[in-house]
Amino acid sequence: MANEPYNKDTGGHSGRSCRMLILLPDGKIHKLSLPFLSISFREAPLTATLLAALTPPELQFDITICDASVSRVPLDHPFDLVAISIITGTAIEGYRLADLFRAKGAKVVIGGVHATLMPEEAAAHADALMTGFGETTWPKMCRDFCAGSLKPRYDGGSPDLAGLPWPRRDLQNRFGYMMPQTVFATRGCRNSCDFCAVVGAKFGWHTRPVQEVAAEVAALPGKRFAFNDVSLCEDKAYAFELCKALKPLKKKWGGLMTLRAAEDEALLDALAEAGCCYMLLGFESALSPSLTGIRKTFNTPAAYRKIVSSMHIRGMMIQGCFIFGLDHDTPDVFEKTVRMVDDLEIDIPRYAVYTPFPGTDCYRRLAEQGRLLPGCNWAWYDTQHVVIRPAKMSSEELDAGFIRAWEETFSIRSILRRLSPKRDQFVVALAGNLAYRLYRARLKKDRHRFPLSKEDTP
Ligand code: SF4
Repeated sequence: MANEPYNKDTGGHSGRSCRMLILLPDGKIHKLSLPFLSISFREAPLTATLLAALTPPELQFDITICDASVSRVPLDHPFDLVAISIITGTAIEGYRLADLFRAKGAKVVIGGVHATLMPEEAAAHADALMTGFGETTWPKMCRDFCAGSLKPRYDGGSPDLAGLPWPRRDLQNRFGYMMPQTVFATRGCRNSCDFCAVVGAKFGWHTRPVQEVAAEVAALPGKRFAFNDVSLCEDKAYAFELCKALKPLKKKWGGLMTLRAAEDEALLDALAEAGCCYMLLGFESALSPSLTGIRKTFNTPAAYRKIVSSMHIRGMMIQGCFIFGLDHDTPDVFEKTVRMVDDLEIDIPRYAVYTPFPGTDCYRRLAEQGRLLPGCNWAWYDTQHVVIRPAKMSSEELDAGFIRAWEETFSIRSILRRLSPKRDQFVVALAGNLAYRLYRARLKKDRHRFPLSKEDTP
C-alpha cells in the first residue's frame, strides 16, 4: 500500500502523486524587500530542505519548498499537504497561512521551535502538530497521511543524526540568501541562557558523525559555505575532530560559536586551518551584571578585546550580537555599547532587544513581574521590537536607544573606524555593513514601533 501515491478524495492512494508544500513563513527580521527580489541577511535555512529529504521516496510526493522570506507563498497552487515550520516571530503569519490552506482543502501540519514551545496554541491551526526534531516523526507523519490516518500529534524524541540524507538543496531558492550553501554538524546547545528558545524547547545537545558532515561539505558546489548550528564548538573535542576533517577540503566557511570557545587559541588555530573565515559571536552585553542576569557568565567583557584580535589575526571576520534592555541595563548602555563595538572593531555588529520567548525562564519571570507589554502578539517577538517593560528604563527609551545604536553603528564614520582594508574578508565585511545601512534606514522609517490596535493582541 505504501508504494501507491496519495488520493485526497479517498484519504488513501491512487494513481497521482500528492502535492506537498513545505513552508517557512516570512520573517521580516534582517531582510530587505526590493521590488523584484527579497534579500535575507542570513544563510539558507535547512529545515525545509532536510524535511524534503526525509520524505519517504516510495510515497512519490511532488514537493514544493517555500521560504517566504525570499519568495512568494504559492497560494494559488493546489496542495494536498502543507507543512509549516514556525518560530515565535513567524507564528502569527504561519497560523494565518495554515487557516487559509485548510480552508482550501489541504491538510496542514505545523512544527518548528514555536510549535514545540506552544503546542496547544499551534494545534488549534493544524490537522497535525509536530514537536521537537522531525528525523523520526516526519517519515511516519508522511506515511500516516498517505494511509489516510494522520494523527493529531507527533512528538520527536532524541534524534539519531547518523546516516541522515542530504538536504534537497535542489528545491531551495537559489537567490536571496547571504549564503545559499549551508550544512549542519550539531543540534542544540549545552548552555542555559535565560532568553534562549533552544533552551526553552529542551533540544539538548547532539552531534552528527564528523565523516558524514565532511562528505556532505565536500559535495557542496563552490568554495564557500556556512554552518547554521547555533553553537558549533560547544564540544571542543568534536570541534577539533571536525576541523581536522574539513582542512583537506580547502573550503572557506563560517558559523556561530560562543565567546568561551573563542577564548581557546588552539581551537582558533584549528578553525582557521580548516577554512573558517567568519564567526557570529553572541557578546550580548558590554556590562558584566547584565550578562550575569541572563546566565551568560561565561562572557567576560574584559576578555572581548583579546578574543577579537586573536580572531582578526587569524583572518576571521566577526559578526557580533548585542542585546539591549537587559535587567541591569541603564540608559547609558547604548552609548557604552556603540563605543565598545567601535573600539573592538567588530566587523559586522547586530543589535537586538531583550525578547522573552515563550517557554523560557525569561518569559516566566517577566510575566510574573507583569512586565510583558500588553497588545503584543507573537509577530512583535522578532527581537527588533520592544515587547517588555525594562527594569531600568522605559520601553520608549529602550526603543529609541536601540534605533539610535543602529544609526550610529552603521554611520560611515563608524564603518570606517571598524573596518580595515588590510584585514581578510574586508570586502565581505564592507558589503555586510552597507546592507545593514539599508536595514537601518528601514528601521528608522518604521513608525509602527509599538502595537496600535487590538488586532495585535494575541
Ligand atoms: S549559548 Fe547561544 S544557543 Fe546556547 S543557550 Fe546561550 S543563546 Fe542559546
